[in-house]
Amino acid sequence: MKTIGILALQGDIEKHARIIEKAGAQSIPVKTKARLEQVDGLIIPGGESTTIGKLLVRFSLMEALKVKIHNGLPVFGTCAGTILLAKEIKAGNQVKLGIMNITVSRNAYGPQIESFETDIILSLYKDTTEQFRAVFIRAPIITRIGKKCEVLALFENRPVLVREKNILTATFHPELTDDMRIHRYFLEMVG
Ligand code: GLN
Repeated sequence: MKTIGILALQGDIEKHARIIEKAGAQSIPVKTKARLEQVDGLIIPGGESTTIGKLLVRFSLMEALKVKIHNGLPVFGTCAGTILLAKEIKAGNQVKLGIMNITVSRNAYGPQIESFETDIILSLYKDTTEQFRAVFIRAPIITRIGKKCEVLALFENRPVLVREKNILTATFHPELTDDMRIHRYFLEMVG
């Protein structure tokens, strides 16, 4: 059985764990380098990217995690996770993994619509488009994607689910609905 780590420093950990188990894999919380060695894939949950970034340093996970991802560990970042994985954070000077070739703008939907739920267009597989009910919570906007990035979902014509090789990132929270399609897709990436 595949073992999926959920980075458990801060943020929405439980719900990812539940959906991963429901999708047929094992989930373990990751707070140490030793734990990181045991996983076949890792989820970096939503939360507060500045806090998670600081805790990654404090728990001596930052460098180890960067190396693991560079070496191909499948990783799935949601919301704050996406911000941490992005190479560039607009007008932001915070500690980050900085690995995926995208630029994000934090809290970019503005204070009036900090959180909202909407249908997005999902195209996980070639020539398929489906709807997905997506929950956005103080979400970032991906303002630039690199050449090797694949856009797997769009909202208002902007990418909200993007893959670059072994890295998958969503600006919304797919763990907050009972819909397992995106977590299943991640499990397929894990192989
Ligand atoms: N606004 C948060 C940040 O900048 C992300 C919000 C979330 O993960 N739901 O880190």
